[in-house]
Amino acid sequence: MVNLSRVSQESSSHRERRETRDTSVQTSEYAGVYGTKYAAEELPLYVMNQRGMPPDVAYQLISDELSLDGNPLLNMASFVTTYMDREAEALMSHAMSKNFIDFEQYPQTATMQTRCINMIAELFNAPTNMHSAADSAEERGEGAMGTSTVGSSEAIMLGLLAMKKIWQKKRRENGKDTSRPNIVMNSAVQVCWEKAARYFDVEEKYVYCSGDRYVIDPVQAVELVDENTIGICAILGTTYTGHYEDVKAINDLLVDRGIDCPIHVDAASGGFVAPFICPDRVWDFRLEKVASINVSGHKYGLVYPGIGWVFWRSPEYLPKELIFNVNYLGAEQATFTLNFSKGASHIIGQYYQLIRLGRDGYRVIMLNLVEISQKLATGLTELGLIILSDNSGNGSNGVPLVAFRLPDDESRLYDEFALSAVLRRRGWVVPAYTMAPNSNNLRIMRVVVREDFTAHRCGILIEDVKMAMKWLEDMDETTIGRYTRYLTEHGTSLPNAHSFYGGEEHSLQGKTGKTHAVC
Ligand SMILES: *Cc1c(COP(=O)(O)O)cnc(C)c1O
Repeated sequence: MVNLSRVSQESSSHRERRETRDTSVQTSEYAGVYGTKYAAEELPLYVMNQRGMPPDVAYQLISDELSLDGNPLLNMASFVTTYMDREAEALMSHAMSKNFIDFEQYPQTATMQTRCINMIAELFNAPTNMHSAADSAEERGEGAMGTSTVGSSEAIMLGLLAMKKIWQKKRRENGKDTSRPNIVMNSAVQVCWEKAARYFDVEEKYVYCSGDRYVIDPVQAVELVDENTIGICAILGTTYTGHYEDVKAINDLLVDRGIDCPIHVDAASGGFVAPFICPDRVWDFRLEKVASINVSGHKYGLVYPGIGWVFWRSPEYLPKELIFNVNYLGAEQATFTLNFSKGASHIIGQYYQLIRLGRDGYRVIMLNLVEISQKLATGLTELGLIILSDNSGNGSNGVPLVAFRLPDDESRLYDEFALSAVLRRRGWVVPAYTMAPNSNNLRIMRVVVREDFTAHRCGILIEDVKMAMKWLEDMDETTIGRYTRYLTEHGTSLPNAHSFYGGEEHSLQGKTGKTHAVC
């Protein structure tokens, strides 16, 4: 303090001279960030420094380091949105300091969530009359039941919890044991289902994929249902191949056989595709057994990562005991989420997309993606690759992604993992992974066609795959061995993974090969 007040009394020229002589704090006024001592020092890595650094220096050094991350536009591994309008970005960055849960402080943001819930639930044909032309709230009814979440994982955890509680309640009322709930699902579920089951003590009952079936078999699924089954999960767009599972077939079997078992539809990827591309496909609340649905706003909902949604058919499927009415900052509010505080930006971003694009906007974007995935599938087929997910057709089989593999050929020295690594050198992230258990250890590669993947860039990717294959084909056995060894040794081990948790083998992916964090 003493020093500071003294400095402020000095003339500016005197101060400059003092600072150039002072080696502990250099000025960046003349030399910029790279002339400061911070550029010549290692960044704090494990222990916080006593003294901080000026914001422009911190900004530049972090931004420079991040340039080593991949380019999101070239990340074909992920469903997650990498493009939004500048206007949406502006709205979202203005809202960054808003805590969504402070309904009292930010009532308009809270209202926007309600609007999103109603609009999306209506897209999924939720049985509400909110969208009717009625003017008064009374005539309109109560509106849809749902909440925003951080992503589909949280949404799925909430969906699973609700199913478990409902099942327990019914069992208790009948004086039956409630200690061993289970859930029936495809072994190709996204890892968050395994997490949800494990975290909330629900036994996993799997319908396994086969060498040529990557979606759930409805008959097997229904046959696995027993008195302890809390529900069946059906996926609208599986993570591996993007195929839609036959929710209607499961529903009809349950109805025909008079089985009391709800369905939760995991529409993380397909929820914002199917309603626009194939509205006649019946997979949602039109089916009486569908109790809840989740969707990722940050996938084809076209919002940057950090938002998902979950909906329930009616209060009958969402027990009161899970809803907390908290009086917070002066307002009574109902919440059902795993976390309390969260940012408001993504809800605002979702509302922007819904009103800016409208149904037509979503539809034309999705139609473009279907067309581009067709182009990609054709291009890859011409290179001799085998396409596993033919979602192209009219787009009614699955989400616009292309899963493919190399043809069976004993004499070929390289595999999908090597091809993926060569593409990576050009910047493309096209993941290779081992298919779900019981699929004969099939290795596949997958390109998710997202909004920002235009036909032009698709053409460039096809050319690059062609060059990568040529490059690998020209290599002899020794070189390819050396290259593969290099890849194994320089694999993607994350720096923070504690050795105690290494070699995880309790999950499906741990046992059968990682999907390399594809989502
Ligand atoms: C992406 C995905 C999830 C997980 O969703 P997040 O939004 O990433 O949490 C779950 N299920 C399916 C089918 C997915 O594609």
